[in-house]
Amino acid sequence: MIMFIIGLTGGIASGKSTVAKMLVEKGACLIDADRLAREVVEPGRPAWRDIVEWLGDAILLPDRNLDRARLAEIVFNDRSKLEKLNRIVHPRVGERFGALTEEIKKRDPDAVVVYDIPLLIEAGMQKIVDLVLLVYVTPEIQASRLQQRDGISRAAAEARIKAQKPLEEKKELADVIIDNSGAEAETARQVDRFWQNLKKEKGLE
Ligand code: ATP
Repeated sequence: MIMFIIGLTGGIASGKSTVAKMLVEKGACLIDADRLAREVVEPGRPAWRDIVEWLGDAILLPDRNLDRARLAEIVFNDRSKLEKLNRIVHPRVGERFGALTEEIKKRDPDAVVVYDIPLLIEAGMQKIVDLVLLVYVTPEIQASRLQQRDGISRAAAEARIKAQKPLEEKKELADVIIDNSGAEAETARQVDRFWQNLKKEKGLE
């Protein structure tokens, strides 16, 4: 058998981390894009250097970490700046994905690897994975979970959800859908079923 790569995606607060944890409990190896995106801009790393060279020391907090709030303000008001930031960060994240995948492959050539990539579909990255797994929730439940998790108003939660591609549309581009609208136990049952099918179909066990 060969390594199998699952692209785990969804929307804000749709339950990607919850499902990722369940898959790791089954034995999958997880690579988290958001985490790598934070790591590559740690002080002294090449992406951090490029950003400081571009925007100057004003983009740093006193502890030399990037001032994320300031950076978000700059790039979300200027598309070309957002693109420039992406051109700095994305290749470094891509390199880390490659290196970590190689490390896993060396340890276990038959591993099932989960790439947790919130914007996988928006970025058109379906082709880098063997299967796209979408964690879906209804917009109402998504808003109430987001509201509760982040302690924000209903209107703010809805605005953040509206800024993303609707999960309804992402459904059409996914290979497998886990509906996380119910209780966690119901999601766990779907993950179980998915894992059993995967093992059967791919002869993984
Ligand atoms: P983000 O990408 O925004 O960080 P996510 O897609 O990884 O979020 P989670 O962190 O897994 O989503 O879940 C979002 C919130 O909803 C969390 O507070 C989590 O505890 C809660 N949650 C997830 N699934 C369920 C469920 N089935 N029932 C109740 N609460 C849930």
